[in-house]
Amino acid sequence: SDHSLTYPKSPSDMDWASHYPAYTVKEESGEYEKEHGAESESHDPGQPTTVRAISKPVEIADIGCGFGGLLFGLAPEFPDTLLLGMEIRTSVTEYVQEKVRALRTQNVATNGYQNVSCIRANTMKFLPNFFTKSQLTKIFLCFPDPHFKQRKHKARIVSYTLNSEYAYVLRPGGVVYTITDVQDLHNWMVEHFEKHPSFDRVSEEDQEQDVCVKIMRTETEEGKKVERNQGTKFIALFRRVEDPPWP
Ligand code: SAM
Repeated sequence: SDHSLTYPKSPSDMDWASHYPAYTVKEESGEYEKEHGAESESHDPGQPTTVRAISKPVEIADIGCGFGGLLFGLAPEFPDTLLLGMEIRTSVTEYVQEKVRALRTQNVATNGYQNVSCIRANTMKFLPNFFTKSQLTKIFLCFPDPHFKQRKHKARIVSYTLNSEYAYVLRPGGVVYTITDVQDLHNWMVEHFEKHPSFDRVSEEDQEQDVCVKIMRTETEEGKKVERNQGTKFIALFRRVEDPPWP
């Protein structure tokens, strides 16, 4: 159950600085009220009135990140980009957060892994509360649904409605990455992204040249499991197209 989950009312209400302290921008207290007005509509009066800002927004999201293998593979590859894992299980989220802390300590000399963090969230709800329109450049959906066949359509991480949310938070030119060992799920994801007007499938040639695809195949925990069992990994990438001009 996700009853105990809390969501920011808007992306500006997220305390991103606690996740990426190395990117904190020093703000005088009261700046937030000056900018948004003391009675800012999106602000919960029960919450502290200053949210520390960071110097750049999160650009890469790993939806259902599990134990974070992909994040830790991508973080050194994109050292100037902020990455965020989103995971619904409390203990798994805590494991990833603990690992981030340990990696930051081990790599303090190089400032390594300051660009990666993880939050507990049900990504099927309120994604636009975390990210603004066109904020993200990459969204990963890696081995998203092991119980695909038993799941009702509404409970699936890829659907026409959710794809519209991915399209909202992803900027034109940005990419959704999918990988699974369940062929029916692969077909389902391809069908639903292809029929969505905001997405085009990336060609296999471009797909195979993308460094993220290599990392996604080898660094995800599920990817490693499938490798051990000599299973097949189905991959598909979808590029966010420009919105058509208003009529
Ligand atoms: N992406 C990782 C990988 O490839 O190794 C983990 C894959 S695991 C099969 C699926 C993960 O998605 C689980 O950790 C599960 O808790 C998480 N998950 C499932 N539904 C979710 C949701 N609605 N929001 C966030 N995480 C979710």
